[in-house]
Amino acid sequence: MSTAATSMANPTDRSPEDSLLAVRDLEVEFHTREGVARAINGVNLTLDAGQTLAVLGESGSGKSVTAQAIMGILDMPPAKIPAGQILYQGRDLLTMPAEERRKIRGAEISMVFQDALSALNPVFPVGWQIGEMFRKHRGMNKSDAYDEAVRLMERVNIPAARERVKAYPHQFSGGMRQRIMIAMAIALDPKVLIADEPTTALDVTVQAQIMELLQELQAEYHMGLILITHDLGVVADVADRIAVMYAGRIVEEADVHDIYANPAHPYTKGLLESIPRLDQKGQELAAIGGLPPNLMRIPSGCAFHPRCVLARERCVEERPPLEPVGINRAAACHYSEEVLNG
Ligand code: SF4
Repeated sequence: MSTAATSMANPTDRSPEDSLLAVRDLEVEFHTREGVARAINGVNLTLDAGQTLAVLGESGSGKSVTAQAIMGILDMPPAKIPAGQILYQGRDLLTMPAEERRKIRGAEISMVFQDALSALNPVFPVGWQIGEMFRKHRGMNKSDAYDEAVRLMERVNIPAARERVKAYPHQFSGGMRQRIMIAMAIALDPKVLIADEPTTALDVTVQAQIMELLQELQAEYHMGLILITHDLGVVADVADRIAVMYAGRIVEEADVHDIYANPAHPYTKGLLESIPRLDQKGQELAAIGGLPPNLMRIPSGCAFHPRCVLARERCVEERPPLEPVGINRAAACHYSEEVLNG
């Protein structure tokens, strides 16, 4: 973990130009026959080189859509980005020419997807697919690109890489396929790596190995890492900062230790209380009541109010802004001081 994140006075004070990546007031909608789903409703995020930012939330909270918007892989239409900026090294990815953005995608900002089997092409050898990064972006010939693929497969700890470089995705285990995806993602030495639920489809031991590998690579390449997950347990040892999303907004952002020690938002508190703990054997796990909102009908005021045990009238009427609470943290709750002290 880096200490870069701790240098800011408040997460809401950051100048976007100071950051490797800064998402500003981002909105994303999906226009469907049934209506408009407001998937992202004013997201602000910053990421520094060498920093790991975990973006956390239930499914439908907007974390993967945020990642896809940063990567520029949203299907438009049905998606629309009516407002916001995605500043990479101070330049807005949303307004730069398509050709320039294509050069950045995969090379400077790359992504590891959740399901390696569907992300990899089943009819091409893995070495060919890793090598494509070098052929396409660096104009390398076939043989040199294969050599680079072997080097990367070795780097992500795939045994007998030279013998297996021409094998197909289905000939590898789930964990090994995820390593191949990671090899592709780091091939061109990216500055930002987005890992979208990279371990969800894997068993627990393999999950730990993949997280360890991502951490090692991040330190080696000094990348900014955005780790998207629904699992607070996964991020404790890995992240510097955590941004918690609910109904397309960040509802809390803070250093990982502050979030675990003392959450400032009732939703974060609920997520933490639902993590299984060894010292609570035999006890029923606390769960957040109710369901995430329908994004076509987001509740008025604070979108979390129908599920919040602290909700009162003001919460139904007024949407709480994401505001500083304490040092170097922010929360979107009218009563966050109460949550912190409670
Ligand atoms: Fe709960 Fe109200 Fe805070 Fe929303 S603003 S999280 S409803 S207390």
